[in-house]
Amino acid sequence: MTLEEKIALTIGKDFWSTNGVERLGIAPIALNDGPHGVRKPAASSEIGIGSSFAATCFPTANTLACSWDTALVEEVGEALGEECLALDVQVLLGPGVNIKRTPLGGRCFEYYSEDPVLAGEMGCAYVNGVQSKGIGTSLKHYACNNQEFERMSISVEVDQRTLREIYLSAFERVVRKAQPWTVMCAYNKVNGVYASEHTQLLHDILKQEWGFEGVIVSDWGAVNEKEKALEAGLDLQMPGYAGDHTAKMARLVSDGQLSEAAIDEAATRVLRMMALGKENRRPGFVFDPEAHHVLARKAAAESIVLLKNTDNVLPLQVEQLRSVALIGRFAKQPRYQGAGSSQVVPTRLDTSYDELQRWLGDNIHTTYADGYDEEGSLDEALLHEAVEQAKAADVALIFAGLPGAYESEGYDRKHLFMPEGHNRLIAEVCQIQPNTIVVLHNGGAVAMPWVDGPRAILEAGLGGQAIGGAIVDILSGKVNPSGKLAETFPERIQDTPAYINYPGEANKVYYGERLFVGYRYYDKKEMKALFPFGYGLSYTTFEYTGLRINKTEMNAGETLDVTVTVHNKGPRAGKEVIQLYVQSLASQFIRPNKELKAFAKVALKPGESKDVSLTLEERDFQIYDDERQTWRMESGEYNILIGSSSEAIALSERVTVNEDPRSMAPLFNRMSPLKQFLQYPKTRELVTHAFAEIPRATLFLGEDEMFTSMPIAKMAVLGILTDEKVDTLIEQANQASSI
Ligand code: BGC
Repeated sequence: MTLEEKIALTIGKDFWSTNGVERLGIAPIALNDGPHGVRKPAASSEIGIGSSFAATCFPTANTLACSWDTALVEEVGEALGEECLALDVQVLLGPGVNIKRTPLGGRCFEYYSEDPVLAGEMGCAYVNGVQSKGIGTSLKHYACNNQEFERMSISVEVDQRTLREIYLSAFERVVRKAQPWTVMCAYNKVNGVYASEHTQLLHDILKQEWGFEGVIVSDWGAVNEKEKALEAGLDLQMPGYAGDHTAKMARLVSDGQLSEAAIDEAATRVLRMMALGKENRRPGFVFDPEAHHVLARKAAAESIVLLKNTDNVLPLQVEQLRSVALIGRFAKQPRYQGAGSSQVVPTRLDTSYDELQRWLGDNIHTTYADGYDEEGSLDEALLHEAVEQAKAADVALIFAGLPGAYESEGYDRKHLFMPEGHNRLIAEVCQIQPNTIVVLHNGGAVAMPWVDGPRAILEAGLGGQAIGGAIVDILSGKVNPSGKLAETFPERIQDTPAYINYPGEANKVYYGERLFVGYRYYDKKEMKALFPFGYGLSYTTFEYTGLRINKTEMNAGETLDVTVTVHNKGPRAGKEVIQLYVQSLASQFIRPNKELKAFAKVALKPGESKDVSLTLEERDFQIYDDERQTWRMESGEYNILIGSSSEAIALSERVTVNEDPRSMAPLFNRMSPLKQFLQYPKTRELVTHAFAEIPRATLFLGEDEMFTSMPIAKMAVLGILTDEKVDTLIEQANQASSI
């Protein structure tokens, strides 16, 4: 290939396709959004939001994550893959695995969780599902796109440990376990460098360390200086643009400002992807929209979270009902997805209103009131009408949440509240109707000043095109709710971890709360959330017994098997999500109280018991040691905690973990305190020897923190040891192979 042909491969042809190489008969391939449905505009030159071909709109990531069901997510992925085959799309632009740092993030609905293990496992399942059909995926947005405010320019200032343990962790899991065809770099900067030009993120970590074999594609328009991006490891710039791109890049190569090797690397990776895309094309493939709609309904029902159910008001006992007041515009116009590039044109849309009418039939009298206007603002007349209808009915079902304009790619939410019209409606109906049930449609956590009012609250998220039927499945008891929150619902925005540093200033945002995002923060501060991470009720009750581990001592490189028995004590079949958290009991590092490391969802018939087994690996105990730039499994005692939410821990077992001594070899430098030398037998001996001739040496070699916390260099500054002696000591300490 000529240099020009290779350069052309590193940029899109238009909005949604790559360049081919006509001379060699290499055809372009198409990359389209993603993630929760296929968005393919009729023309490849159009952005086409709202005017794409119809496709199944599955629940958005925030909602699907509440299923905690990897098999289900994989099934959704397979269906998405089939729709890509039918629409001749070769790469689907998803999943998004960024961490929900603040509930105000405009794209929280497109992301799975505040926890990297949950987000990572969901991401793996999605990638495996889609890719099993021969369709590529795009793991996005790498990295640290955790807010939309100034997303194209802001610099995320984050320390390496937090970056590794929280913000890169889900990406690492998906890359290592599922090898997505592409990874999409984010718009923002990370520690002052654009993600698209970030050598450490793209080349060193993603390609070298994690062994990513696919294509690093830019987010649409994320490239600023193409030559820097290519040298840093970017392979494909999207979208294409009319202009002198090829000539400019060729000139940079001939001027020596851009290496041909960087272009070769990018072109090779893009070509490999295009070959795969071509190989897997299935002209004439048709998908079954009916079957996919049924799957969308199942996925939504599995993801709905029952937040409250006083006196078991749910499931509704229809035999005892004469009238139901349906209230809230969302009953007829559900919010079922978010706005922006992910917006799918659904194949059809089921409303709760229609589905409820169908279920309740003619024997139960239903009324309907809008309750609030389009924007959700307070309209006294609509409110009054709703309250009157609620008063006259046996049960009031209110559909409320966040209007479309509140949640979008491109900007953040302004606050945690639902609109005044929704809040007042719920509060006032609850005053006069004791049997009020609230169904929420929203892409992220909301404050609920009225939480004590309704008897039941269902968090339906943004449930996709079949949400109406799924809500009826839960209300009627046809499906027993089994969703668990994938993010903490705080009481107030002031309680949230990022509150003080969000959204940043002077184009920088400091991740000052470090590892303490989501439940890690509430846990550490012993602060109550409105509803904790991992929480969700069921129509039955589960009991956990017999927690056992296959060893009480775990060495580096080994795994630990954990088994627990779960019993369905109630009268209904149901599913339970078993959550495993690891708790370090003593550490030299600042650590969260506990962290989710594994989970499983099991189905149990009434009275049935099952053993659930989970396996922990070394990484599940590790921290990232910034000083040594390596992962370490610190020796010590750990609790293995099993619970049904981050707050409801039922069982605990203790394991002793032994670190590989090589990974904990201490690093000594001039600022290492004396106590560090005194900590290990060999270095203690060295330092004792060096101090042998010094009067009052015991002062420095004793227990007094005032002296032992002095950096070794201060011994020279204070004239106690010579500079040479200090340097020799440091050298010898670093050489001491076994300490
Ligand atoms: C979004 C990506 C999306 C791309 C293509 C960007 O604005 O950030 O998530 O895949 O556009 O539509």
